[in-house]
Amino acid sequence: MKLANLEFKGTKTLALVDANDSVFWPIADLVPEFEGDMVQLVQSFEKFKGDLRPRGEGRPLSDAKVLAPIEQPRRNIFCVGKNYHEHAAEFQNSGFDSSAKDGEHAPEAPVIFTKPASTVIGPGVKIPRHTTVTSQLDYEAELGVVIGKGGRRIRKADAMDHVFGYTVINDFTARDLQKLHRQWFIGKSLDGFCPMGPYLVTADEADGQNIDVKCWVNGELRQNSNTRQLIFDIPTLIETLSAGIELQPGDVIATGTPAGVGIGFNPPKFLQQGDVIRIEIQNVGVLENEVGE
Ligand code: MG
Repeated sequence: MKLANLEFKGTKTLALVDANDSVFWPIADLVPEFEGDMVQLVQSFEKFKGDLRPRGEGRPLSDAKVLAPIEQPRRNIFCVGKNYHEHAAEFQNSGFDSSAKDGEHAPEAPVIFTKPASTVIGPGVKIPRHTTVTSQLDYEAELGVVIGKGGRRIRKADAMDHVFGYTVINDFTARDLQKLHRQWFIGKSLDGFCPMGPYLVTADEADGQNIDVKCWVNGELRQNSNTRQLIFDIPTLIETLSAGIELQPGDVIATGTPAGVGIGFNPPKFLQQGDVIRIEIQNVGVLENEVGE
C-alpha cells in the first residue's frame, strides 16, 4: 500500500493513495480511532492494517498537496556514505572526500552519518541554496528504508522483517562544506537538505534489495543503478546499526547513492538555481525538487 502525508483543505491528512496516484482515502475515514502522524501510524500499523483498505470512490489527489511522508522523524536520518562501488571510486577521485584512506576503493565497514530531522522537505518544495555558506550543491538519489518493528541486535537473516517500507530520498550535499569540515554532518545538514517522498510504500509492494534508482537533472539522466549494486545491503545496514543502537519504528535509513553525482564529472557539475532534480525509484515513486533561491 501507498501511504501519503497530505495537506488537504488546510489540514494535515494521512492518506492511502491508489496505484495510479489519482485518488486518496483519508486514514481518518478508514480508521476513525487512529490519531497521529506517519511515525505513529507505523508504530500502530499491526493494529489497524486490516482496516486500511480503500472504501468508496476516494478524493482526487490533485485536490491535495503531497508533503514528505515522514515530515517529523523522531531522530536523525541514518545515512550511508560510499555504498556503491562506482560512486565510492568517483568520490575518492574527485578530491572532495576527506574521509578516504589512500588507495581505498571501498570502505571496510559501512560509513554511517546522519542528517537532522530538520532537513526534511517534501516533493516540489524548493531546496534553499544557502549561498552565504556554499557554492557547491550536489544531489544524491537514494532509496530510503523505513523501519517498522524496532529492535536491538537484529540479525541479517531477520532484518527484512523489520522493514516497514520505502521512500525516495535526495541526500542533498554542500560539497565544499563536506570537504572543509571533514566530518560530513554540516555539509549534509543545511535546512532543506533532505527532500523526501512522495510516498511511503509498504515493503510488500517493492523489493528494496533489487530496485532501480535513477536520477535526472533538467531531464539529463545522471544516475542509473540498482540496489543490487549496494556494497552493504539493507540487512547488513540494519544489523550494523542495531548492534548497539536500538532501532525504532519510523526510523529512516538512506541507503547511499550510486555513481553519477555532480562531483563525478570533470569538471564537477554543481547545481544552480532553477535546476530540477528528478529521482525515480521503481515501484516507490518519483521525487522532484527544484533548486531555489
Ligand atoms: Mg548519500
